[in-house]
Amino acid sequence: MPRLRQTFPGGAPCAWHGARPGRVQRPVLFDYGEGMSAYVDSFYSRTRRPTAPRAALHGSVAVDVAIVGGGLAGLTAAIEIARAGRSVAVIEAERIGWGASGRNGGFVGPGYATSLSHIALMAGRDAAHELYRLSIEGVRIVEENLAALGPTDNVATYGKLSVLRYSDAPALLVRQEMMARDFGYALEFRDRAQVRGMLRSKKYYEALFDPQAFHFHPLNYAVDLAAGIEALGGRIFEGAPVVACDLDGATKVLRTPGGEVRARDVVFATGGYTGSVTPQLRGAMLPIATYVLVTEVAPQRIAEVIGVPYAISDNRRAGDYYRLVDGGRRLLWGGRITTRTSEPARLAEQLRATMVSTYPELAGIGIDAAWSGLMSYARHLMPMIGQAKPNVWHCFGFGGHGLNTTAIGGRVVAEGILGTSDRYRLYAPFGVNWAGGPFGVAAAQMTYWTYQAMDFVREFRSARAG
Ligand SMILES: Cc1cc2nc3c(=O)[nH]c(=O)nc-3n(C[C@H](O)[C@H](O)[C@H](O)COP(=O)(O)OP(=O)(O)OC[C@H]3O[C@@H](n4cnc5c(N)ncnc54)[C@H](O)[C@@H]3O)c2cc1C
Repeated sequence: MPRLRQTFPGGAPCAWHGARPGRVQRPVLFDYGEGMSAYVDSFYSRTRRPTAPRAALHGSVAVDVAIVGGGLAGLTAAIEIARAGRSVAVIEAERIGWGASGRNGGFVGPGYATSLSHIALMAGRDAAHELYRLSIEGVRIVEENLAALGPTDNVATYGKLSVLRYSDAPALLVRQEMMARDFGYALEFRDRAQVRGMLRSKKYYEALFDPQAFHFHPLNYAVDLAAGIEALGGRIFEGAPVVACDLDGATKVLRTPGGEVRARDVVFATGGYTGSVTPQLRGAMLPIATYVLVTEVAPQRIAEVIGVPYAISDNRRAGDYYRLVDGGRRLLWGGRITTRTSEPARLAEQLRATMVSTYPELAGIGIDAAWSGLMSYARHLMPMIGQAKPNVWHCFGFGGHGLNTTAIGGRVVAEGILGTSDRYRLYAPFGVNWAGGPFGVAAAQMTYWTYQAMDFVREFRSARAG
């Protein structure tokens, strides 16, 4: 097994606030003997649309916009720029969608990694509402891209159930009313009997159903976006880690072991894999690992407990999320977070235990694959989007709610570069601030454990009350 490599150490930090061209040095990658790592073994990599690896960067390439990172943030920015007729290059250290974008739960719905009320505390009520509207637009962007990139077998399955693990119907009704009033967004209430009619778990109480949210195959979406960018003349390089850069001149230079890209604008969209080549960005984000498994083929057993094809998540902080895949023959289950960025040896067992505690009938079901990915979180839990200095953009920190927010993040950065809007400024309250290094990591883990304990107490009380 190759060791999990978290970041791209690079030769020297990019000159964020002063010109210090770095020494180019081949970073240590997986031991595959070639320039890029294979996709992590997952349900998605096993069912991905086959694409030949793209060539790494050789020599010097000049474009209008260079984007570092071939996840959904970088790809969405790139396709928006290419659609506007500008030349663009995406420089990806591994493969397109290799990071969180190709490993996630596949849930696409509105919102951010933190609550509307927390955003309002940081940015004010009006800005928070504007930002939330952008998050809804992010869902639409994914939908539009799916339609525009077709014909594709990546069919969106509509409907998301957010279930409570303790009884609190009034809170759900307040949220339903707020979403309709403030955003014109219709959610449907489901009482306990309805929920347990769909999901046979004693853990569940009431739920809100979102008929506009959907789930899909995120890696194939990334692969399709990349093909769409190339069809518009965009360049994509794989196995091309950016290891040094010069960001001070009118022309910015990004260097990889084999070549360089020169551009007027550069965008860093490196997510939870942001490395020391951009120390300010690396220091502003906490890489948090989260996990997913997929079961063996067992359609009858799964149908006995899960009677709907929706995306399902519970209301706990970093709670469970799951959905039927492979035409209902398998269950894809995600959950658990940790600040330990190494693969835990018993990952599949831990996740399976979580699944079985919700659905005891699934005890003994086989697990075909389990994998992890890194999310990037700022201390403020919001995306970090903007310019460090003119024409040097960043677009990362989407946490566990990235499928809609990378879409709108990529779009507002593209609009900023094209000069068609300054909507990216709405994210200005959420700065690139030091996340606290090891202290930030420890604080994040403590916060998670505290929320886990609070969730446990609430669930315990609800179960006792019947
Ligand atoms: C297991 C898991 C489940 C999740 N489930 C959901 C979900 O159901 N719904 C949802 O909305 N969100 C979910 N998320 C979150 C979502 O996947 C992420 O927020 C989103 O994909 C982040 O996209 P990104 O483009 O910012 O980063 P990534 O997809 O991680 O892409 C960053 C890319 O940058 C590249 N890179 C880094 N450094 C360099 C360099 N120096 N040079 C070149 N390339 C570089 C990396 O190789 C990587 O490919 C989940 C995340 C995980 C890990």
